[in-house]
Amino acid sequence: MEFVTGYRAEILDFAELLFSWYRRFLLDSACRRGSERRKRQEGSIRRLPPDPALWVLHALPNRALAFTVADPGQQVGGRFYSEEALALGDLERFITFVGAGEEDDEEATPETGQPLWRVDHLLLVTDEHGSILGFDFQLGGSCAGATGAEQPLEPRAVALLCHSMICPLGTGEPRRPKLLTVGDAALHKSLEPLLSRLGVKMSKGPMRGWGPKPAFTFPTTRVRACHVCKRYSFEGQVTACQHCRAVLYCSERCRKLDWNRSPEDIGHQFWCQRMAGYMSRIRELATLPFTFAAEVTSENFNKEGFLSARGLTRGYWAGESMLVRAPDYGVGLQGGPEKPVPFLQSGNPFEALRPEGGMALPPAPPEPPMPRTFFGSWKEYYQWRRLPLGAPLAVLLSYPLTAYYIITQLAPQHFPELNILNKQSLKIHVVEAGKEFGVLMVFWELSVLLPHVSLELLFVGDALPPQLDGQQFLLQRDEEQGVSVWPGRARRCKGGRRELQFGFSARPYHLLQAPKPDLVIGFNSGFALKETWRSSLPRLQSLRVPAYFTECSEYSCAVDEAAVSMATGGSASPAQINPFRSPFRQAGIDNAMPWYSNAFIFHLIYKASSASNHRQTPPLCPRPCHPAGTLTPPRQPGAGAKRRGRSGRQGGGASDRGVEHRRDRARQAKE
Ligand SMILES: [Zn+2]
Ligand SMILES: [Zn+2]
Repeated sequence: MEFVTGYRAEILDFAELLFSWYRRFLLDSACRRGSERRKRQEGSIRRLPPDPALWVLHALPNRALAFTVADPGQQVGGRFYSEEALALGDLERFITFVGAGEEDDEEATPETGQPLWRVDHLLLVTDEHGSILGFDFQLGGSCAGATGAEQPLEPRAVALLCHSMICPLGTGEPRRPKLLTVGDAALHKSLEPLLSRLGVKMSKGPMRGWGPKPAFTFPTTRVRACHVCKRYSFEGQVTACQHCRAVLYCSERCRKLDWNRSPEDIGHQFWCQRMAGYMSRIRELATLPFTFAAEVTSENFNKEGFLSARGLTRGYWAGESMLVRAPDYGVGLQGGPEKPVPFLQSGNPFEALRPEGGMALPPAPPEPPMPRTFFGSWKEYYQWRRLPLGAPLAVLLSYPLTAYYIITQLAPQHFPELNILNKQSLKIHVVEAGKEFGVLMVFWELSVLLPHVSLELLFVGDALPPQLDGQQFLLQRDEEQGVSVWPGRARRCKGGRRELQFGFSARPYHLLQAPKPDLVIGFNSGFALKETWRSSLPRLQSLRVPAYFTECSEYSCAVDEAAVSMATGGSASPAQINPFRSPFRQAGIDNAMPWYSNAFIFHLIYKASSASNHRQTPPLCPRPCHPAGTLTPPRQPGAGAKRRGRSGRQGGGASDRGVEHRRDRARQAKE
C-alpha cells in the first residue's frame, strides 16, 4: 500500500482535482451541444436547491502572457490537459511561456514562427467566501490558424455556470445560487436574460474592484481520493474502512479489491489492524500546548485559511502555502561567492520568518539555557524563547528543534559512547535534504540553543539546487552587527563566538565524499519513496554513524523499517513520537491517518559487522573524531542491487515484498 501524503506537494493533488474536474466539464460541454439535452439540463438546474451564498463569475483578462506549444502539430487542448502534462514539473516540455506585449502585437510572434497561444480570459466561478466552484479558459491566438480567437464569452460562461451548479468543483452538493454577480460589465448585461431561464437572479450591477484580497483563500483545497482507483472525488463520496477508519474508498468494489490484494502483506487485510493502531494515536499527536492546537490538528484543518488570516504569506511562510509562490529565501547565494548573502545584511537570520507585520521571532534571550538542562517540549522552549503560545513558529522551527532534541536527548541516550554533549564541535549530515532546505536559516536556532558548540551542517541530496553543490558559508554572531555571513570557511576565529557552518552537496548521499560526521539526520525520509535510499542506507551501514530519521506517520516508519532490513540487513528502533513535531496536521488524500511533518523519530540499528564480532570497540571513536577520515568511494551501481537481492531473499518476509512492490509503484510514478 502506498500513501503519498506528507511527501508529495499538495499542489499536485490540487492540480489533479482541477484537471479531472475540467475533463468532466469538457465532456459535459460537448454533450450540451444538442438543444434537447440543453433543455433537459436547464430543467434539472431549476430544480436544484438554492445556495444562500452570493456567487461570483470572474472574467479575468490576460494580455501579458502567451505561450507556444512544443509540438505545434498537436491540438493545444488535448496536449495541454493530457495525463502526461499532469506532472506539473514537466510542463515546460510541452509549452513555453513568452511575454505578449499588449500594444505591439507583432512582437507577440516569436522568431521561430510558432503559433502563439494566449489564455484571453480566465473564467472563474467562486462563492462569496472564495470557494472555487468552476473555471474555464478562453483560448485565443495572435496568428492565423489559431482557433478560438474572438469567440464570444457568453456561451462559455453559461456552460461553465451550469456545470458549476451541477458539479461544483470544490465542496458540497449540486446547488443553484440565489444571486449571481459578474466581474465584467458587458458580460453581466448579456448574461442576464440567459440566466433568468435557469432561475438565477443577477445582482443589480456588475461587481466592481474585485482582486485577490489578502484575506482571500481557497477553502476548496481539500482533496480526497479513493485509495484504490485514485479517482479524485469530493469529500462526501469516499468512505473510510469501517474497522480501522484509516483508508478511504469510493465503493464496495474498491474496498474488496484492497482487502484481498496480493501478495497478502500489501492487502488491507494485513494492515487493517495495524492501521487501527496508528489511528489510535490521533489524540496523542494532537496534544500540543499551542492556543491554536485544536484548529490545526483537526482533520479538516484549512491551512491556507489559517496562514492567510494571520498574514503568514511571505518569507519562509510562503513555502507552507500553495497559493503563494515561494521566493528563493534561505540560501540567497545569488550575491555571488564574494558578496555576503543579501537578505542577511540586516544581521538577522530570521528575516525570512518575518510575516507581513512585525518581527516573528524575538531576539535570542541574553542568557543561554542553563547548562545541562534541555528542553523536551514546545512549552518549555517557547517559555525560554519568550514566545506566546499563539505563535505558529513551531511549524518552521520543527526542523532545528528536532535536531536539537536528537543531539541533546536521543543520541546521548542511545549512543553514550559518543559523548556528544561534551563535544565542542559537531558535524551533522542532513541526508536527502528536501523541504527543510527551504527554511535553511531557521537552523541558526541550533546555535542559539547550543551556543558553546561550533556546528557544521552539511545538507546532502540530489533535490538541492545543483549550483549549490560544494558551496559553503559561515554564519557568525557579531557583537555590533548581529549575525554576519561569510562565504567558504573563512573568518573562523576564537573567542567563543556563536557560529554555524553550512555546506551543500547536491548529490545522493552515497556519492558524497566528505569527512565522517558525528551524526546523520534525515527529515521525513520516506525510504520506500526515493530510489537513492537503496544506496544511501548501505552507505550509512558501512559508516556506522548514529543516524536518526523522522517520518510523517507511524505507517511510514513501519515501511521504512522494512526498507532498512532489505537494504542493509539491519533494522530500526521503535518509532517514538517527536515532541518537536510540526503542529500542522497534513490532510490525508486517500486516508484519514494523522500526518504531521517530523511526527515520529527512529534511528538505524546496524547489522553487526564481522569486524565488530572480533573487537568490542564502539562503532565510532568518541573523541577525537578522525579529522582525515573520509567516506569510502562510491559503490559500484551493481553492488547495491546485488546486496539487496540477497537480503531480500534471505529475509523473504512478507513485508520485504511489500516494500519492493511499493518501490515499483514509486518508480512508476516517477516515470
Ligand atoms: Zn475506487
Ligand atoms: Zn481497515
